[in-house]
Amino acid sequence: MTEQETFNHVSLITTIILFCWIAFMITWERISPYRKGLPFFREGFWVDLVWYTLIQSYFLKILIFDYIIAPIESHYSWKGISFMADWPLWAQVAFFVVTHDLYIYLFHRFQHANKFFWRTHEAHHSGKQVDFMAGSRSHAVEIIINQTIEFGPIILLLGPYSPVIPIKAMLDATLGMFIHANINVKLGKLKYFLNSPELHLWHHANYQEVFHANFSTKFAIWDYLFGTVYFPDHKPGDKPENWGLYYDYPKDYFAQHAFSVKRFDERQLVAKYKWLAWYYNLRPGFIQWFKKTFLSKPLPVNDVNLSEEKEVSVKPELLDV
Ligand SMILES: [Zn+2]
Ligand SMILES: [Zn+2]
Repeated sequence: MTEQETFNHVSLITTIILFCWIAFMITWERISPYRKGLPFFREGFWVDLVWYTLIQSYFLKILIFDYIIAPIESHYSWKGISFMADWPLWAQVAFFVVTHDLYIYLFHRFQHANKFFWRTHEAHHSGKQVDFMAGSRSHAVEIIINQTIEFGPIILLLGPYSPVIPIKAMLDATLGMFIHANINVKLGKLKYFLNSPELHLWHHANYQEVFHANFSTKFAIWDYLFGTVYFPDHKPGDKPENWGLYYDYPKDYFAQHAFSVKRFDERQLVAKYKWLAWYYNLRPGFIQWFKKTFLSKPLPVNDVNLSEEKEVSVKPELLDV
C-alpha cells in the first residue's frame, strides 16, 4: 500500500468513527442531560452547523493546508531532520496530541487575557445554549492560527500523507464534542487528567469567577498544574444570563466576524439598511419554507429556534433570542 493509500484508508476509518461518535453524543445528551430541557434545535443551531461546521471548515481547510502549510513545506521540509520518523504511529500521535494541547492551553489563556486576541475568541463563548456542536463556533482567525500551528509541524516533520493527520483531526473533533456536550458525566479521579463537560461547560458560563479559568481542551491536567481550575459543587444555572457573554453579541456568522473588527448594534443596523434586513430574512424564510414543505406537523415550541423562525417579515425583532 502506498503512503497516500494508507492515508486515505485511515481517513475513511476516522470519518466513520466520527459519525458514530456524533450519534453517540446526541443519544447521550438525550438520555442524561447536564442541563435539562435544552432543545436539539437550540439557539444558534443552524449558524453552528451550516456556517461554522460545514462552510467555514471546508474553506479554511483549503486555505490552511493548500495555501499556508503546503507552500511552507515546499520550501522548508523538515523531513530530513525528523527525529520521530521511525517512531511507532501511537507515539507520533501522542507526541503531537500532548504538545499541541499544551500550546492550546497557553494560547487560549492568552486569548482571555489579551484584548486584541479576545476578539478572535469571544465567538466561541457567545452561545447561550451549549451542546456537543457548540465547540465548532470559533472565529476564522482563531482556527487559522491554531490549525496551522497544529498541522504545520506534523506535515513538515512527517509529510503530507502521515496518518497522524486524520487521527489527530478525529481526536480534536471527538474530544471537542465531548467537552461541550450537554451530558451529565462524572469522571471521578480521571477528572485530573482528562477534560470533560464538568469543567468545560463552566468555561462557557457567564460568571466572573470562571472568566479566567478552565482553559484546558483535551487534558484537564494543565488547569490543575497551572492552578486555573474552577470546579464548584453546583451547576451554572439554566437561565440565558447564566451562559455565554455578558454583552450583546450578533447572531449572524458574518456579523460575528465584523463585530470582532468593529463594535456595532446589530438591531440598529438591520433597522437602518434594507439590504441587510433582506439578508437577515433569508435564513428564517428558508427555514420556514423547509418546515412547510418537508415537515408534516409543526415542531413543539421547545424544538424550534423562535428567534430565527417565527418572523419572515422584515423586522429587527428577528434578532431577539
Ligand atoms: Zn475560552
Ligand atoms: Zn469551548
